[in-house]
Amino acid sequence: MFKNVYQSLRHNPCPKASTPSRGISTHPLVNALGWAVGLVVACGIVIINSETHSDLAPTLLYITLLLMAANLFSINLVITVALMCMFLLTAMFLYNGGYHRWDSTTGFFRCLTALSAIAFLALRSKQASDSLRHHQAYLIEAQAQLAHATRLTSLGEMAASIAHEVNQPLTAITSSGEACRRWLERPVPDLKEALDSLDRIVANARRASEVINRTRAMARKCDPLRRPECLEPIVRESLDLVRHQLAQHKVSVKLELATTPSQVSVDRVQLQQVIINLISNACHAMETVQVRERILFVRTWTQGQEVLLEVADQGIGIPAEALPSLFNPFFTTKANGLGIGLSICRSIIDFHDGRIWATSEAGRGTSFRFSLPLISNA
Ligand code: ADP
Repeated sequence: MFKNVYQSLRHNPCPKASTPSRGISTHPLVNALGWAVGLVVACGIVIINSETHSDLAPTLLYITLLLMAANLFSINLVITVALMCMFLLTAMFLYNGGYHRWDSTTGFFRCLTALSAIAFLALRSKQASDSLRHHQAYLIEAQAQLAHATRLTSLGEMAASIAHEVNQPLTAITSSGEACRRWLERPVPDLKEALDSLDRIVANARRASEVINRTRAMARKCDPLRRPECLEPIVRESLDLVRHQLAQHKVSVKLELATTPSQVSVDRVQLQQVIINLISNACHAMETVQVRERILFVRTWTQGQEVLLEVADQGIGIPAEALPSLFNPFFTTKANGLGIGLSICRSIIDFHDGRIWATSEAGRGTSFRFSLPLISNA
């Protein structure tokens, strides 16, 4: 889950506002140059044809002006330019006394109709491009809002992860502290037990700070510290860290470790997080079963090029329909559960190129297993 959180933070940067395209070229300089050339050509045509085509030549100029306005200016300005062109065309027609001749009258109406049609099309295209630009701006805004929401969700998930992961060592520190006090308050203080409790306090405090350090390292985009480690001592250490929780839940552990130590490339603290999460869940699952049946099996063995670890309990089990959602973030059946633990486990195991899965029979216990690629059997 951590990986997902940080990946989503990394891969959801706020989208940049892009400039919507205008006309043929998006570069304003090229665009303006194109229109200037068009205008010069249109003026040339007007000058050359002013004698022979006194209506057609200026109409061509007006059309060029109109298209240019539609490309560069707002709708209101385009309407103004269109009306101005029609006015000029009519004024020229009246000024030249074109209405005296049938051919120039029909020519004038042809030009006026062409100009109106082009004005109409230019306005429609302007409207369409404005609405496209508006939608693009809306889309960019929506994307930015989505990215913001994703960041908030990711931060929420991250905060939930830290709360979940640090809660276990803090609980262990509190109970070991209380145990230490009890050993010291006895009529004859048991210094050895008190010192053991103090050792557990120190180990759990160190673990809590390492978990936080790992989280900060991931936030700074550093990779977890993977190095060759033997799995079995990590399992023993993890059990030691939850000794008090096991005692509180009256759970006895049956440990079966592979006879030859199995070397894997792992981040020690992260792997401890996985094992401790599985053990904690097993303890909770056995809360309602009879004390003499509260046995937790922890096994490791090698199989081909992999080493496997199993944490099996005899608790309430998991209904078949819940199994597919088990590793999803926020899936929980507990009243006060966060539903984060197993998704963290899966992210960590995924990161270590391994697999994690669960098998369960409702009412008859659950077995969680994970496998990791083996470096060697030392
Ligand atoms: P949480 O413990 O906060 O609910 P987890 O991600 O650790 O979150 O567990 C998700 C759910 O998986 C639990 O709510 C529980 O229903 C189920 N679950 C996990 N481990 C076991 C187990 N050993 N036995 C039975 N159910 C389990």
